[in-house]
Amino acid sequence: MSQGIITVSYIAASVLFILSLGGLSHQETARRGNMFGIIGMAIAVFATAMSVAVSNYSLLIPAMAVGAVLGLFAAKRVEMTEMPELVAILHSFVGLAATLVGIASFIDPANHFTGVEETIHNVEIFLGVFIGAITFTGSIIAFGKLRGMISGTPLTLPARHWLNLAAIILCLVLGYGFLNGGGVLPLLLMTLIAFVLGVHLVMAIGGADMPVVVSMLNSYSGWAAAATGFMLSNDLLIVTGALVGSSGAILSYIMCRAMNRSFISVILGGFGTGGGGAAADVEGEIIATSVEETAQMLKDADSVIIVPGYGMAVAQAQAVVSAMTKQLRDAGKTVRFGIHPVAGRLPGHMNVLLAEAKVPYDIVLEMDELNDDFPDTDVVLVIGANDIVNPGAQEDPNSPIAGMPVLEVWKAGTVVVSKRSMATGYAGVENPLFFKDNTRMLFGDAKDTVDAIVKSL
Ligand code: NDP
Repeated sequence: MSQGIITVSYIAASVLFILSLGGLSHQETARRGNMFGIIGMAIAVFATAMSVAVSNYSLLIPAMAVGAVLGLFAAKRVEMTEMPELVAILHSFVGLAATLVGIASFIDPANHFTGVEETIHNVEIFLGVFIGAITFTGSIIAFGKLRGMISGTPLTLPARHWLNLAAIILCLVLGYGFLNGGGVLPLLLMTLIAFVLGVHLVMAIGGADMPVVVSMLNSYSGWAAAATGFMLSNDLLIVTGALVGSSGAILSYIMCRAMNRSFISVILGGFGTGGGGAAADVEGEIIATSVEETAQMLKDADSVIIVPGYGMAVAQAQAVVSAMTKQLRDAGKTVRFGIHPVAGRLPGHMNVLLAEAKVPYDIVLEMDELNDDFPDTDVVLVIGANDIVNPGAQEDPNSPIAGMPVLEVWKAGTVVVSKRSMATGYAGVENPLFFKDNTRMLFGDAKDTVDAIVKSL
């Protein structure tokens, strides 16, 4: 394929990626955005495979076939609840690819750079491998934490900031050696240090901050890809990497703001340890309720707010929740959904589930849009949510999630909480909401429970 056609294909793919990001920012246009992304990526892969830089098709085609089969298999098999883990592991692939391409690009015998060009190329390699290696191991740890294979409690080694600083200084020294003709050894040593740094950085981050870490690693994977683009002189990879890197950074910023955390303190880790004091003991009694009682409360109510959380995703209750919403709306009640920015296990998790279940977009509101309305609401139905409705975040300065904005559901007339037990949520914190006078606990799997409410209604 001629260079001109490849350049045009790359421009078309870049435009499609930008349209894709634009589309993905609204629920109504998300499907179209996704389509743009798929077409852009298909063009990108085809044009790159056809470019003059590629000659060894006997290796490329089997490798692409294996990758495509693995990707298809993983995407078909993955449950909605496992999506964050899939995203984390995919980021680790980008990190590993950047690391391997960087090292291969340095030892490539066809490498013909000299003088300033060689220095620039080596800086690109060093940076790409550094970011890629941190992304690789950091994402594997994030995967382990999200899957529950590694504890969500932050690992706070003594003098951990000094350890991180020492690692970065050591990498700088190795970088100096590498750029001054040190050969492949400093590059490999730096890779090892960056691997350890990636593990340490993410191990130090507590449960409640994981949403930010996932989007931060997303951003890192973009920058690693952009650095690889520079190494390989591939414009499309630079553009795509920069798009992923900057959109991930913006998302991290939005998530930090949603959780009232500064970006730097998230990166430095340690959040979720309780700020030194002991979290306050929860006092009060638990009042259990039944499906019939809940159905009666809903029948008597004029305004209802539903707050879904991770448990709704686990129970796959979105369809029955949608059916219940329709029943209540048909009966003339005002029904709205309150979505916390970190509800579930990935940004937008609840919105995706509710959209899939055909809940109208205009009754799905964000936390800030409806937090003032709880005092005027008759019944709030919390479905499989826990941390995002924990009043301890506001009332207990020693709570591990102190300062995180929450949905103030306890201000409503009555709060019914559907969950299976008294178990804690992701952050591992007791929830005083369950012990409040106006709270009723509706124990059981969310899907079975809501299904029974639908029948009772
Ligand atoms: P939580 O993890 O706090 O709570 C979920 C609750 O759902 C649990 O307490 C559980 O209680 C209940 N549950 C589980 N399965 C079922 C079921 N089948 N039926 C009914 N209930 C069930 O979820 P939230 O959405 O409230 O908060 C999200 C948390 O995840 C926050 O701490 C956030 O920081 C973190 N996080 C968010 C990410 C994101 O990007 N959104 C990424 C990573 C972490 P029980 O076992 O008793 O049923």
